[in-house]
Amino acid sequence: MAAPKVAVVGAGVVGLSTALCIAETCHSCSVTVLSDQFSPNTTSDVAAGILIPHTYPGTPIHVQKQWFKETFTYLFAISNSAEASEAGIHLVSGWQVFKNTPKEELPFWSDVVLGFRPMSEAELQKFPQHRFGQAFATLKCDCPPYLLWLEKRLKATGVQMYTRKVADLWELHSEYNIVVNCAGIGAHQLVGDEKLFPVRGQVLKVHAPWMKHFIRDGDGLTYIYPGIHRVTLGGTREKEIWSLSPDSGTTKDIFDRCCSLEPSLRGAQDIKVKVGLRPSRWCVRLQREVLSQGGVKLPVVHNYGHGAGGFSVHRGTAKEAARLVGECIAALQGSSSRAKL
Ligand code: FAD
Repeated sequence: MAAPKVAVVGAGVVGLSTALCIAETCHSCSVTVLSDQFSPNTTSDVAAGILIPHTYPGTPIHVQKQWFKETFTYLFAISNSAEASEAGIHLVSGWQVFKNTPKEELPFWSDVVLGFRPMSEAELQKFPQHRFGQAFATLKCDCPPYLLWLEKRLKATGVQMYTRKVADLWELHSEYNIVVNCAGIGAHQLVGDEKLFPVRGQVLKVHAPWMKHFIRDGDGLTYIYPGIHRVTLGGTREKEIWSLSPDSGTTKDIFDRCCSLEPSLRGAQDIKVKVGLRPSRWCVRLQREVLSQGGVKLPVVHNYGHGAGGFSVHRGTAKEAARLVGECIAALQGSSSRAKL
């Protein structure tokens, strides 16, 4: 068969990294990204971009660990290269603090991040309301620069990118051989996935250049993540709320919570408020499906539903999606050679 034509729907961190993995592994493919929004208008642009995994209850832990490890290794290499600044990737050390000792003192990802250890008494003195803590170094993406860097890499490998809203995956069957669905929360409407729901998150991006260490409350709600240019203060987790409008009461609440962890933030300047909808699901939907109408078939690979942890696992799930695209190509090649016999 001729070079397989692959359409990737979605240009958030999942769509762009999936398109890149497909282009890197399938040199004979022609890859196109179709999306109604690109950076800076995706959920991925709003994210804090720290590599601390969120747990997906419906996905085996060893699989989640593998996705995280692959993502960490990939970004660690970038952070150690001359590309680091343009890609917005850097290593950041800090503390995760708990009011009560957690049941699981060693999370599954503790040997993937660097230098994981319990906090010392001297470190804990900084947090009088907390009794236990973990210190480690992890990676942080400045999200809009990272998305632009991915777009640049895609263009360099010959991937086309078009602004287009896809109403139904089937509409692509006459133009493409394989479709990859990376529509994030958009998959709720695009494929009618009722198991996918938004978890609204509001964050503040502030100028506080003295903040060099991250601080995260173990409940996951309050966090301070320094990036290369700005510090992200969070956050909220509001299940099933679709509103993208910032709420001023929430802004004050986030700011107060972060200042109680790090009082120097009272001096932060230039506060910008962002809202995004985490595409949440019991497990990431990473699977093949074959759509069929009137005897015509369209292989689809789904890769969406990364919830609160898309940055932490994106490269691992992108590699798996690219492998599934490889299986679809093998199946198409098998059926076209059988047809010739
Ligand atoms: P998106 O970025 O939403 O991209 C989906 C793409 O699909 C968009 O380009 C959209 O335009 C396109 N699309 C949708 N429907 C259609 C359609 N019908 N036709 C064409 N195109 C379509 N994760 C972490 O790992 N670490 C963090 O620190 C972190 N912090 C976060 C903080 C907040 C406040 C929020 C909201 C999220 C955070 N996340 C974090 C989670 C992370 O942002 C998401 O998991 C990730 O961005 C999901 O990426 P995505 O590419 O699937 O979705």
